Amino acid sequence: MTKIKTLETILYRFPLPEPVEAAAAGVMSEFELVMVRLRNTDGVEGSGYTALMVNQGAAVAKIIENVCADIVKVADPRKIEWIWSQMWKTHHYAGRGAPFSFAIAAVDTALWDLRGNTLEEPLWRLLGGYNPTVRAYAGNIDLNFPVDKLLEGASKSLEAGFRSIKMRLGKPTLREDIARVAAMREHLGPDVELMTDANEAWRPDQALRALRALRDFDLVWVEEPIQPYNFSGYAHLRANGGIPLSAGENLHTIAEFAALISAGGVDFPEPDLTTCGGITPWIKIAHLADAHGLPITSHGAHDIHVHLLAAVPNNAYLEVHGFGLDPYIEHSIEIREGFATAPDRPGHGMIFDWEGLEAFRVN
Ligand SMILES: [Mg+2]
Repeated sequence: MTKIKTLETILYRFPLPEPVEAAAAGVMSEFELVMVRLRNTDGVEGSGYTALMVNQGAAVAKIIENVCADIVKVADPRKIEWIWSQMWKTHHYAGRGAPFSFAIAAVDTALWDLRGNTLEEPLWRLLGGYNPTVRAYAGNIDLNFPVDKLLEGASKSLEAGFRSIKMRLGKPTLREDIARVAAMREHLGPDVELMTDANEAWRPDQALRALRALRDFDLVWVEEPIQPYNFSGYAHLRANGGIPLSAGENLHTIAEFAALISAGGVDFPEPDLTTCGGITPWIKIAHLADAHGLPITSHGAHDIHVHLLAAVPNNAYLEVHGFGLDPYIEHSIEIREGFATAPDRPGHGMIFDWEGLEAFRVN
């Protein structure tokens, strides 16, 4: 039986091209990536990663080294569900969510990539094989941008091929948010889809007032209007706000998605494989949404999420974020007429410039 011969955990820190702001996170100028590189006894490789804010990666890397590595090295790497369960059980007392879900995510993704590379199949076909082409949107982070820069960013996204664009909400006054959305809707015209993301900016009463004031702008959704665990609050806003809701980047377990969905709190569940425990739970959450008649969207990590969305029939939108990693990937994602296509390269198909990445290595 083929086994895992080496597991390497690497922590990178990248500067962002310019500082960006979202309500919950504040201003961000750097981000961290914890990368797992596997090689099996046949010499086949697999890689996976999770993304974090600055000074959060070292703890996650340590969890992988201290706990996950030993489980992976003795297991049959084809038994991904078994390995995932072992990692979950081993972490259960201090875990059942973040930061352990981030650590498990990097390992799980590397195992799926290894499987794809071994079978010479792209992930989107291995995981279900629905349709490689999925609708994409530009997930701009722009709360700190003045209006002219906000609109300029939208124009750049349109030139890059997007037909759907997201902007941030959560300014100190609702009046300011409304003015920014009005300027954006006027700039885009009626045919470009517009999403918004409040990044937990509001209390439930403020959120309800905001949703009602935003009804005239034909929004695809308002994302994370309130704190992520207030499932009854989400249900109240969904029933009374008049605009579809999306949420999920700050949920870290399948159980949390099940609770939000069954509370009737979300129109577009938005799991992030790097925060919810990897590809294995992401696909289950997508099927859970499908069973409730809901579409699925994604958050971050677009080069891998394009496969996961392409695997399932209820895919809605791929969020595309430029986080400055593109120069170190051989094929960066292309958007044509609003759509992205999952590659036919095996595994996740991300071919990293490992030497170039060394400049950003922390450990
Ligand atoms: Mg968001």
